[in-house]
Amino acid sequence: MVSERPLRLAITPTGLDKGALEAGQFLEIDEAARVVRGNGMPSAETGLHLAIVRTRGAGAVLHTHSLWSTVLSDVFSADGALALDGFEMLKGLRDIHTHEHREILPIFENCQNIAQLATQVEALLKHEPAVHGFLLRRHGLYTWGQDLAEAKRHVEILEFLLEALGRSRTGV
Ligand SMILES: [Zn+2]
Repeated sequence: MVSERPLRLAITPTGLDKGALEAGQFLEIDEAARVVRGNGMPSAETGLHLAIVRTRGAGAVLHTHSLWSTVLSDVFSADGALALDGFEMLKGLRDIHTHEHREILPIFENCQNIAQLATQVEALLKHEPAVHGFLLRRHGLYTWGQDLAEAKRHVEILEFLLEALGRSRTGV
């Protein structure tokens, strides 16, 4: 997030190699996903980023298309969520101070209608203040933080825990 009032978000443009991005290539958008600075189209999933910023006051939102988030979001889709519990690494999540914690990652059906998905995400985040992230089925993980460093830590923690859960289920 660049500023809160008026809401301004720095976001990656669609179609560029995320590993090769330079600061000048980020776009700045407003609360309606209109580009106010930079050239290019904002990410197709901008509406989801905005929904998270609005409901959580997040300073940064990150999204991955990792293998384990893709696989496990499918395996647990019928339950609508998956649980991560008893792991020491859970303590890397904001406000979690013990491994005796059950972290729920809600799973949404993937959908190309981002506005519709954003409405579902916003409703859930309002009712489930404890969650640190969510999954889109066969698509990936969303998580956030007060700032970029915290959001990045949450990606690392959740990706680690998803892999741990996945490997423990398959015994590899
Ligand atoms: Zn995506």
